[in-house]
Amino acid sequence: MIQTLYHVPEYNEELIYPAVCKFMKDLNIGKDMRPDLKVVIKPNMVMAKNPSFPATTHPLVIKAVIRWLNEHGVKNITIAESSGGLYNGEYMKNVYYVCGMKQLEPEAVLNQDFSARTVNCKEGFRNHSFHIITPILEADYVINICKLKTHAMTGYSGGIKNLFGTIPGLEKPQMHYRWPDIRDFSRMLLELAQTVSPQLTIIDAIDAMEGNGPTGGTSHPLYMLLAAKDLYTQDYFAAKLMGLDPMDIEMIKQAVEAGLARPDEMELSGDSVPDNLTPFQVPDTKKLDFASALPGFLQKPFVFFASRLFKSYPLLNRELCVGCGKCAESCPAHIIKIENKKASFRRKGCISCFCCQEMCPMKAISVKKAF
Ligand code: SF4
Ligand code: SF4
Repeated sequence: MIQTLYHVPEYNEELIYPAVCKFMKDLNIGKDMRPDLKVVIKPNMVMAKNPSFPATTHPLVIKAVIRWLNEHGVKNITIAESSGGLYNGEYMKNVYYVCGMKQLEPEAVLNQDFSARTVNCKEGFRNHSFHIITPILEADYVINICKLKTHAMTGYSGGIKNLFGTIPGLEKPQMHYRWPDIRDFSRMLLELAQTVSPQLTIIDAIDAMEGNGPTGGTSHPLYMLLAAKDLYTQDYFAAKLMGLDPMDIEMIKQAVEAGLARPDEMELSGDSVPDNLTPFQVPDTKKLDFASALPGFLQKPFVFFASRLFKSYPLLNRELCVGCGKCAESCPAHIIKIENKKASFRRKGCISCFCCQEMCPMKAISVKKAF
């Protein structure tokens, strides 16, 4: 599989566009383009955040891709995403605006169809079906353009995780509730990725996020764009660029075990990997890792007890909380109440999904270990 990497020193259209042209050529994407093609771009717009903050896909990366598509005769382009909150016109209008997507009109349409349909999964999948936003299902060609981040629950967020945004609105927290175990949740993500099956995945890593991603971390630029048809192997490669062990990321580990990610077959095209990369800070949820220091036969029982002893819970900073209720809205366990204009958390029933932390616009929620 061909993995491309191109250095881009800043968010500047005239620097991004040549990189896009090069990786499209390396991957021979031009041969798939035709004037009647219906292309849907799936960015990361996890919440309404200004693109100068590395939580969402930068609009200039999308703009350069649209320019390339236009120059290859493709005019039917839609940008579709279900962000972390509600999935309706009013909510998404604000998300499009704050994330800087309005500047992409009229060359691309910002999706206004907020319906979703159920699609059946392949035989052998644990999930029998997924409820997916309609524009993705109606596309001839899906371009998945994600942001590179560390992630409080999954450890890493790239191409595979970005496709969770094809699940409509508040059905996402419900899926966290249905699969609270990271192994089950990761398997669900892989089955969803195989169901959506984007033709191309681009990783915006010009600036990336470290620490308490997907929305509470800080900037860690890599000054690069990655692109590949194989999103699984690409996630393995991107995690390594971040200084993570890909096999510590459950969804990537399962992708390798299932033969979806094949890092041994990867062929790098474009620029070389810089030799001055520094490791990303991991989220607070992942900081206690005594297990890896133990002999293999002790790791499983240790993890069993440690997962109970060291379970992570959300911790509220009352000074920062403005009582907006976004955490309560996204909590699949319904254990957050707004009382006296402040959030109040009940620990019992918490599944440590950190949807609340993800959706808090004030960074008022951090992670606390039980022990
Ligand atoms: S914790 Fe954050 S999301 Fe929840 S009410 Fe307070 S400010 Fe809003
Ligand atoms: S309180 Fe936060 S971490 Fe716990 S279940 Fe609710 S959203 Fe998930």
